[in-house]
Amino acid sequence: MPDDVPLLDHEDEAEDIHPRDLWAIARFLGPFTRPYRGPLFALAGILLIETVINACFPLAMQYLIDEGLSGEEKRLDVVVGVLAFLALGTLAITGLGVALDYVNARVFTRMILDLREALFAHVQRLSLPFFTRTHAGEVLSRFSGDVVALEGTLTTMVTWGLVPLFEVIYSLALLFYFNVWLGLIAALVFPLTLLGPRFFAARAFALSYDKRQREAEVLSAVQENVSAQGVVKAFGLAKSTRARFGMLNLLWLAVSFRVHFLGAMVERSSTTGVYVIHFLSFGLGAYWVYTGEITLGTLVAFEATFLSMGYAMTYVTQYVPMLAQAAGSIHHIDDLFAQESQVLDMPCAKALPRLEREIVFEKVGFHYAEGEFNLQEIDLRIPKGTFVAFVGASGSGKSTMLSLLLRLYDPIKGAILVDGQDLRTVTQESLRAQIGTVFQDNYLFNASICDNIRMGKLDATPEQIEAAARAAEIHDFIRALPAGYETIVGERGSQLSGGQRQRLAIARALVRDPAILLLDEATSALDYTTEAALNDTLQRVAEERTVLMVTHRLSSVVSADHIVVLDEGRIVEQGTHEELLAKGGAYLALWRSQTEIFDEEADPLDDVVSSR
Ligand code: ADP
Ligand code: MG
Repeated sequence: MPDDVPLLDHEDEAEDIHPRDLWAIARFLGPFTRPYRGPLFALAGILLIETVINACFPLAMQYLIDEGLSGEEKRLDVVVGVLAFLALGTLAITGLGVALDYVNARVFTRMILDLREALFAHVQRLSLPFFTRTHAGEVLSRFSGDVVALEGTLTTMVTWGLVPLFEVIYSLALLFYFNVWLGLIAALVFPLTLLGPRFFAARAFALSYDKRQREAEVLSAVQENVSAQGVVKAFGLAKSTRARFGMLNLLWLAVSFRVHFLGAMVERSSTTGVYVIHFLSFGLGAYWVYTGEITLGTLVAFEATFLSMGYAMTYVTQYVPMLAQAAGSIHHIDDLFAQESQVLDMPCAKALPRLEREIVFEKVGFHYAEGEFNLQEIDLRIPKGTFVAFVGASGSGKSTMLSLLLRLYDPIKGAILVDGQDLRTVTQESLRAQIGTVFQDNYLFNASICDNIRMGKLDATPEQIEAAARAAEIHDFIRALPAGYETIVGERGSQLSGGQRQRLAIARALVRDPAILLLDEATSALDYTTEAALNDTLQRVAEERTVLMVTHRLSSVVSADHIVVLDEGRIVEQGTHEELLAKGGAYLALWRSQTEIFDEEADPLDDVVSSR
């Protein structure tokens, strides 16, 4: 499946369970059962023995009554023998039952563990376009809803599904063995108890998908609300977000109520069927015992078998909706597995050596979504060691340039070359290993400062971490903290100021010893003095590296080796600060609009002229 198909967009599950669903479940689970073939065979063996012992119980009962208790003369040897058999059988079944429960729990929980791991690994492999398109809640609900539903279905499959199913099968055979006519009446229980549940289960099933979709929406709303609390409080949005949440919750109620009621009706309708048939077969049987048609032992054994069969059937009918739900879950999980990464390493991809000469954008064109191009005809050569700044209005494509160089996306036209090698022909790992990135908003993990820096290079030594912190000029600050490098930064780094967070992010980028440094509005969210200080730091760490810096604050780019002005995805001007001012074009206009804020009088051209 191409990965531009939205995840939660199918009209599946309109029907109830179908043999093809069972096939789909089996096919999906097949690979996951492979490591557990041995225990699964053991499980089947135990199941078989248990079933045979169980099937002998009614026969023993019939024998006990007819031969031991109600014949011409009562026989103690028969009574003792049968009771001894029943006692032993009960013991055996208990022991086997525990073994079965153990193996069952062990095997199926492990399969779920494997499935979670496989799914997580798959999500990790997906490329960025998937994540820009997909709500986190949708991926979460695969793990929280679907995997959990599957866990429920799998761990109860043997005890609620297979054991009762086998019981139904051998019970039916026994009923016919006891008396064909009574057996036929008893068999009516199937159409009667299956039709009702089928009717209700089909509806419950169709709605269960809606229910989970509603749940995903509720979950997304909670998640968004929790992350947006600052905005919610500041704008006094509590009331309106509650109203919105209440509406989503009501939508959930409408579906959920029906799912639960219909689910209960599945059970109710099947037990009603059992009651009716029970009355018919018991009445006729009693009459035939009276007329001498059948023995008392037969009636009692028939009765016992019928009751336990009815009981087993309610299990089976309750299990069917779970299977149906599992089929739906598997469908969803499969959809996620079917998502393919758009950015892939070629089979013959080589490791990219460290940047030696230059980065070249060659007639690069790119768009996020079909339609208009977000970048067009970008031709740019960046020799090693240069400090390049990208400026331009918001939305002009600056960040996109960096994303392409990181190969988060591939160009749609043209190519990006590093030392003559097309990025598409090298491994992503070797490319990114030599790039350090600092964004405007850097995700800091709720871990220690030390661990956060180490995210840049997982095998970094404490010395390397300290060196990076020094270079980012935050070492002294860290040392002054009571817990030093072990200080926990809080959720998303909330214990630190904006400038400190940025410095930590710089340290994280530097610990990789990157050949290429990407700075995307790294200082834009900071106040003026902090920004100036941070820019000094950046100038210093940039010395022996190639730097691509995106900013909309021109004050930080004056000293750049090369400035690229972007407008609507095109390079409209490039050169040094002085050259661009002298051109009197877009850059000059930008410069004027920004410097006027601080200095109404100064004409930038004066500066340029006097500095020459
Ligand atoms: P800049 O960094 O210059 O502000 P960007 O490179 O982020 O601009 O964006 C360039 C254009 O691409 C904008 O029109 C923006 O709306 C669009 N864009 C950016 N990111 C995405 C995305 N993930 N999905 C779709 N469109 C995007
Ligand atoms: Mg941007």
